[in-house]
Amino acid sequence: MSACGCDGTDLLPVEEAIAQLLQRVPAAPAVQQLRLEQALGRVLAQDILSPVQLPAWDNSAMDGYALRAADLPAEGGYLPVSGRIAAGDGALQPLPAGQAVRIFTGAPLPAGADTVVPQERCRSEGAGVWLPAVTRGAHVRQQGEELRLGQPLLSAGIRLRPQELGLLASVGLAEVPVYRRLRVCLLSSGNELREPGAALAPGQIYNSNRYCLGALLRGLGCEVHDYGVMADELAASRDALSLAASEWDVLITSGGVSVGEEDHLKQAIRELGSLQLWRLAMQPGKPLAFGEVAGKPWIGLPGNPSAALVTALVVARPFLLKAQGLAVVQPNVLQLPADFDWLTPNSRRQYLRAGLQRSADGQTRVVLHPQQSSAMLSAACWADGLALVECASTLHKGDLVQFLPFAELLQ
Ligand code: AMP
Ligand code: MG
Repeated sequence: MSACGCDGTDLLPVEEAIAQLLQRVPAAPAVQQLRLEQALGRVLAQDILSPVQLPAWDNSAMDGYALRAADLPAEGGYLPVSGRIAAGDGALQPLPAGQAVRIFTGAPLPAGADTVVPQERCRSEGAGVWLPAVTRGAHVRQQGEELRLGQPLLSAGIRLRPQELGLLASVGLAEVPVYRRLRVCLLSSGNELREPGAALAPGQIYNSNRYCLGALLRGLGCEVHDYGVMADELAASRDALSLAASEWDVLITSGGVSVGEEDHLKQAIRELGSLQLWRLAMQPGKPLAFGEVAGKPWIGLPGNPSAALVTALVVARPFLLKAQGLAVVQPNVLQLPADFDWLTPNSRRQYLRAGLQRSADGQTRVVLHPQQSSAMLSAACWADGLALVECASTLHKGDLVQFLPFAELLQ
């Protein structure tokens, strides 16, 4: 493990930890064909080329009149109207010379027509129509203008959103090749943990990480297999981890990775496989650990609820996205003015629970929640994201601060 570089401690810089995790991502899951209506949020497994051109034929972008621009005097004029074409009409007669045709949005242009005039700009009179001056090609969606046959349509490694599903449908594809979901086993550790709904005995607390992390993993596109709580014993930890490793792609635990005598997970991992990194230069989240059990990656998140959330979003997320086959795994970071001072440099990079506040001058500024304890989740519920203060740095009100929106991190 390399030194942090901030204060000479043995804490691993966050970027280095993420890079090391990314190097150990297993091969992407198997590919399956899914119908479009089942594919929302799934990761595209192959590049898709357009099997058609789009639009397939010239068509009208407006309700109005189609004509041959050369048939109209430069200043506009009167043309007889020879017919009517609506969306869905096919097998059209060519447009007779010197005539216009009534046409509607999405309707195919008849052979010979090259221009459409919106109906608001026309005046119908008798069996014809008064038309203004036109520009040839106006309001016509040209054949192949959006996509040519064989043109790259979508690249492997993207997550399918509604617009991608719509685009696939628009070129006639009913199914799409995607990676099967990444199967993640989630385990909590701690003798003190009880499930919500149960009565608490003295010394017990509710298991919140199970629900927070389970939801977070599902939101990232994983299939979650929740193995409940491991007791704080080496043998129990070993058994649970080795069973989980025999069944699922990735193991994620919370708690039990700190330095206390009741923290057995690192030892269990050493006995079953290998511990590859531990202790990051971040706050919250120092005790994060990473290793491997029977060839399956294991991410040991800290037990403190806010630390578990932040490390899952900052460190585990890029790993889990890459393991799902996604090409882009790092979040977009915003730079916004801070509405706070950070005057005491810290040896660990800070991931502060922060909100966005719009002030009277229209500027969006980053404000901090007063409680930044790694044990408390309320601040994360109040927050819009995480403000990042580099280790050994200070900040003054008005300085730009890096901001990671939850909206970005939670998908
Ligand atoms: P640990 O890392 O196991 O020492 O846990 C650190 C702190 O987080 C302790 O106060 C634990 O009680 C708490 N904690 C651990 N796991 C959970 C959990 N699943 N839900 C809520 N709190 C937890
Ligand atoms: Mg514990």
